[in-house]
Amino acid sequence: MGVGNGTRTVMLASAAAAACIGYIAYADAAAPRAGAVLAVYDTPEIHIATATRTAGQDANLKSVAALCVPRQAGPAAPIANNTAEPAKIFDNLYFIGIPGVSAWAITTSAGIIVIDSLDNPREAETFIEGGLKKLKLDPMQVKYVVITHAHNDHFGGAQYLADKLHAQLVMSDTDWGVIEHMQPPPAGNTNRGTLPKRGKSVKDGEKLTLGDTTIEIYQTPPHTPGAISLIIPLKDGNERHVGAFWGGIGFNFAQSEANYTTYVNSVEKFAKVAKEKGADVPLANHSNFDNAFQKIQALKTRAAGQKHPFVLGPELQQKIFDIQTECAMAGRARLRTATANK
Ligand SMILES: [Zn+2]
Repeated sequence: MGVGNGTRTVMLASAAAAACIGYIAYADAAAPRAGAVLAVYDTPEIHIATATRTAGQDANLKSVAALCVPRQAGPAAPIANNTAEPAKIFDNLYFIGIPGVSAWAITTSAGIIVIDSLDNPREAETFIEGGLKKLKLDPMQVKYVVITHAHNDHFGGAQYLADKLHAQLVMSDTDWGVIEHMQPPPAGNTNRGTLPKRGKSVKDGEKLTLGDTTIEIYQTPPHTPGAISLIIPLKDGNERHVGAFWGGIGFNFAQSEANYTTYVNSVEKFAKVAKEKGADVPLANHSNFDNAFQKIQALKTRAAGQKHPFVLGPELQQKIFDIQTECAMAGRARLRTATANK
């Protein structure tokens, strides 16, 4: 890291700590007054406590606060029964994922936009193509497959969908570049799909329109350098809602203070857009983050006139961003402490 970067990180850290103090002072009258050494408050413990307090007893927020718990190194444990039924979520949004990773379909007046493509061609065929058929949607109507980021569990089925359904693959220009430098999976590894061929590139702030529907795309690194998050218009009968789809959740990026700062900045940027758009439906590409399966279950028994389980409201949506920020700050402070103790 150059001197310039280091200075910037320290300055941002101080600003972040100052913001954090403001929050604590309001939230807890017994907290020490601002004016003490700022760094005292930029600790993992303080940020985790703030995230935990923000989550309270809300199950959806608690799932997000799990981000604060450092992940164990090594591959995730395989899911025993990695299969699921597709589900209609909104009039124009469908879940076509599995427990390990999510995929979604947005229906428009001119075809379907699929978000993410699961791990490999087999899953794309079974759960995306097959899922759409089960939902009485025509897979040949898929015009775009938007890939949120250059990780195999999101792009592994993409080339299959491009070839079979003649769908156009869409990813950030940055992450197309990432894929170009990746090693293809070893021959015979059917759990990983081939690397997709470069398709349509999108940039930060770009819109993707199909028929009557426009989704907005924002680059939110550093989960990957070009991870994208989406603003999606949603319909529930006569009601209109706005989905805020976070595209790269976990902190499994190269561990540096600068990367955690980038995460904090990405959340700040996307939270501002989401607020302006009135986003009230948090969506994700991993169901442990947005509790998609619990909500799908609740949707099955939803009575007429009852609140939609995916609609959490703008306030909770913003709390989710607050928790992501606190957990990223906790991660950064943890790294800083580790470096200081070396
Ligand atoms: Zn990922």
